[in-house]
Amino acid sequence: MKGKRSNSVQNLRGPGFDDPLEGAVRTFIRELGEDPARDGLLRTPQRVAQSLRFLTSGYHQDVDKVLNGALYEVAYDEMVIVKDIEIFSLCEHHLLPFFGRCHVAYIPTKKVIGLSKIPRLVDIFARRLQVQERLTTQIAETIMEKIQPLGVGVVIEAKHLCMIMRGVEKQNSVAVTSAMLGVFRKEIETREEFLALVRKRSE
Ligand code: ZN
Repeated sequence: MKGKRSNSVQNLRGPGFDDPLEGAVRTFIRELGEDPARDGLLRTPQRVAQSLRFLTSGYHQDVDKVLNGALYEVAYDEMVIVKDIEIFSLCEHHLLPFFGRCHVAYIPTKKVIGLSKIPRLVDIFARRLQVQERLTTQIAETIMEKIQPLGVGVVIEAKHLCMIMRGVEKQNSVAVTSAMLGVFRKEIETREEFLALVRKRSE
C-alpha cells in the first residue's frame, strides 16, 4: 500500500515519519535494543507496515461485495465441500502467524456460493488479528447467514508459531477447531460424512 504523503512532508520529516504505523515499528525496533538507522533496518518499518496492512486487509473487505454476483440458484441438495483451503492468519495474542488448512462444507437449500468465492471468504476473516476458534465460527456463520443452507461445517487445522517458536508446543502439533451449524450439528451422519471426507485426503 502506497502512502498518500506529499513530497514536502517527506522532505521535512524523512521517509515514513508521517505514517504512525511505520513510526511504531521504528519505536519497536529501538525498544528491542536495535538501531533503526542502521543500513539493514532502514527500510524495515516501511516493509513491516506494508506487510501488516496486507495481513490485516480483511478489516476493509466487504463480504457482500466479494459474494456479489456469485450466489446461484441451483437445484442441488447434496453436500458441497471445499477442502484444503490454505489459511494464513495472525494470532491476536502474540501477533505471530498461525497457518494451515480450512475445510468448508454446506448443504444448500436454494442457493450455492460460487466455489472460487469460498477461499476468498475465508481470507476476509483470516486476514485479521484472530483466534482460531473465532475464525472458524465467523466463516460458518457468514455462510449460514448469506445463503441459509440446511447446515454448515467448518474445520480448521493450523500450526501456531507463537506455540511452536516459544517451545510451548512440539513442532508438529496442530490445533483443530470446528464449527457445526444446522444439520451438521443436529445429525451425526451428516457431520460424520463431512469429517470422513476431510480425513480422506488429509492423511
Ligand atoms: Zn498466540
